[in-house]
Amino acid sequence: MSLLFKSFLNYICSMNVLIENAKQVITCHSRGRKFKSGKNQSEIGLINNHSIYIENGRIKWIGNKLPSVLRKKNVLKINAGNKTVLPGFIDSHTHLVFAGNRADEYSMRINGSTYEQIAKTGGGILNTVEAVRKASKNELLELAAKRVESSIGFGVTTIEAKSGYGLDTVSEIKMLEVINELNQILPVDVYPTFLGAHAFPKDKTKDEYIDEILYEMIPQIAKKNLAIFIDAFCERKYFSAAQTEKIFRQGTKFSLIPKLHTNQFYSVGGIQAALKCGAVSVDHLEVMTARDIKALKGKSTIACLLPGVSYFLDIPYAPARMLIENKVPVALATDFNPGSAMSENIQFTMSLAVQLLRMNVEETINAVTINAAAALGVSHNVGSIETGKQGDLLIFDTPNYKDILYHFGVNQLEYVIKKGEVIHKNPL
Ligand SMILES: [Zn+2]
Repeated sequence: MSLLFKSFLNYICSMNVLIENAKQVITCHSRGRKFKSGKNQSEIGLINNHSIYIENGRIKWIGNKLPSVLRKKNVLKINAGNKTVLPGFIDSHTHLVFAGNRADEYSMRINGSTYEQIAKTGGGILNTVEAVRKASKNELLELAAKRVESSIGFGVTTIEAKSGYGLDTVSEIKMLEVINELNQILPVDVYPTFLGAHAFPKDKTKDEYIDEILYEMIPQIAKKNLAIFIDAFCERKYFSAAQTEKIFRQGTKFSLIPKLHTNQFYSVGGIQAALKCGAVSVDHLEVMTARDIKALKGKSTIACLLPGVSYFLDIPYAPARMLIENKVPVALATDFNPGSAMSENIQFTMSLAVQLLRMNVEETINAVTINAAAALGVSHNVGSIETGKQGDLLIFDTPNYKDILYHFGVNQLEYVIKKGEVIHKNPL
């Protein structure tokens, strides 16, 4: 971002914002509900030729003609004629704090190398763990900040980030401190998740490492107030359902809210463990049994799907249609990480959802706004354009919201507005 643009931002940030006469406003209104499911997930609340007024960071008014009492104020006006306004996108599942580069490993995989061959050359998750342990906090912060800035350019105004590449107390805390600092220095909200149970480190037995998570990491992280959520990778050869439940029980004792990586390759009881512990979301779900779907039916736990992983690893896609037909609320996220989904482009995730998860355009938009907000427990505050909610919104340079997915691979986003401030403007 240029200094000139920063000073322009500082100038306009002190003002209230009036977005005038948008051709389409996609409100994703929830009318007090926390999320949308079933047929309701296709309801996006389209209104035509409306203006939106944001005061002190919150949406104050939506309508056709600005009331005279609001007209006198110091206002930045943005003409949105022939443009479309949407709520800011929410990426509710990322691993964006990491060091190192696994491009060579990717290239080997494309050329046909097996996982074992790649691991022999030092590839895989433990490669990233080594790089993260070696990196200083400042190095990690600089790398991660750049990635979040890139996410903002695709329309992300709220983002979640996980630890999980430290796999020892010092390095997990280092990662969480970086995530908390990102929240301080960047204009978007960054929500920290503790994912010590991402993999087992080489230098400890499984029992030793689980004890470290339970009795060292969780108490210290809670004491320092470094995380809101607790996560685990519940999968064959990783953390079993029983181990996951044990870790979540300890996390909830320290007020951490469970979210879970589960059902990516096998159904091993992760969904049932997550539900027992009050998880706010279950993420991945590429492999679902009838029993798993039944367990989620009618619950408020969000199914967060990550089609970028299926694309990148060439594995099956989650049964989104079956979930929606069973009234399970579906969210979408990038899962941005160096091993299985190296992209922060949430618009690409949306494109995959439409083409490969067979979600319709409207379901997809709700999945990255109101339902993604629910996956972070913040849908009372963000995820829709409604009076009283935070002024987080996007202006796309198209008169028809369907263009955002129809014209794929192209970023038509013009303005990103966070708490009533223009935080990013893409050159068109
Ligand atoms: Zn993940």
